[in-house]
Amino acid sequence: MAERDLYDVLGVSRDATQDDIRKAYRRLAREHHPDVNQDPEADRRFKEINLAYQTLSDPARRRQYDLFGGEGISPDVFGFGDLGDIVEAFFGGSPFGRARTRRRTRTARGSDVRVTLPLTFEEAVFGATKEVPVRALRLCDRCQGTGAEPGTFSSRCSACGGSGEVSDVRRSVFGTVMTSRTCPTCEGTGEEVASPCATCRGDGRLAGEHTVVVEVPAGVADGMELRMEGAAEDGRGGGRPGDLYLALAVDPHPVFERQGQDLVGVLEIPVLAAITGAEFEVDTLDGTAGVSVPPGTRAGTVLRVKDAGVPHLGRRGRGDLVLHVDLDVPRRLPREERRLIEDLADQRGERGRLRGRLRPR
Ligand SMILES: [Zn+2]
Ligand SMILES: [Zn+2]
Repeated sequence: MAERDLYDVLGVSRDATQDDIRKAYRRLAREHHPDVNQDPEADRRFKEINLAYQTLSDPARRRQYDLFGGEGISPDVFGFGDLGDIVEAFFGGSPFGRARTRRRTRTARGSDVRVTLPLTFEEAVFGATKEVPVRALRLCDRCQGTGAEPGTFSSRCSACGGSGEVSDVRRSVFGTVMTSRTCPTCEGTGEEVASPCATCRGDGRLAGEHTVVVEVPAGVADGMELRMEGAAEDGRGGGRPGDLYLALAVDPHPVFERQGQDLVGVLEIPVLAAITGAEFEVDTLDGTAGVSVPPGTRAGTVLRVKDAGVPHLGRRGRGDLVLHVDLDVPRRLPREERRLIEDLADQRGERGRLRGRLRPR
């Protein structure tokens, strides 16, 4: 099986870099994988490609192969019963998928951060621009996130030869099994930072506090969560930054209560105004509004002021101001007024012992 020159199998030159070998392998593995390629030769070819890759991607084995050819390769390398098994042990399944993302495991997405954003009632209704302090890891200014001291460069990892992984060969009753794990020295990047950045110690990020300016849209409510994409922790090694989640905590209003986009309050009117009817001017959140109380208005009547409520979130229009009428009945009256009302009550038979009229609640 190892008759063909392994460099020829991968189609690379003898001075190919680890990167060249990896790229050539991936391209060929995709092309000749028996699941994809129906050619009866594909299976044999695929095994040959894997063998070549395992030998040439390992610097020690490659050196041995360069010096001694196929004979120089230790039996361990060729001792597998079925090379398909190696592929499985090597890649944990299909050579697709993981193989592509194998390098740079050190690249990591930044964490999401959740903070509470306190808002006044008015800020939630009309929107606001807020500056939110966020504690998170951010890219180090000194090394621009590379983790390397300025002016220095990272080099190929000496522990894994730049492949980002190290192999363990284990013998068992089933034969020799080779497993592969992320190189602990370079954490899978295949690169070693010779002089780590003095500020961030090579991580490329630093703990700190940054300020995020948030445009809170009009119409938000207590308990809502706003998501700001990429505004939280920076990713490692060029990874995507995490998202900032803002949990809105809105102060209550002394008078109004929110019911969706409606503002709800109680309009207390003098009892005689309820009988005679009257025009009222009431304070709204952004000015005043006229409210017409018709004659004979009862307690509990609901009056609506159109479009004096909360703006709809993300679209035009507003909710209403919803006023529940309550009657203000005076406890004490000047003697003169009291006599007038008592005379009126006498006239209407509404004084003294009366028969109560009951109705369902
Ligand atoms: Zn740094
Ligand atoms: Zn390494």
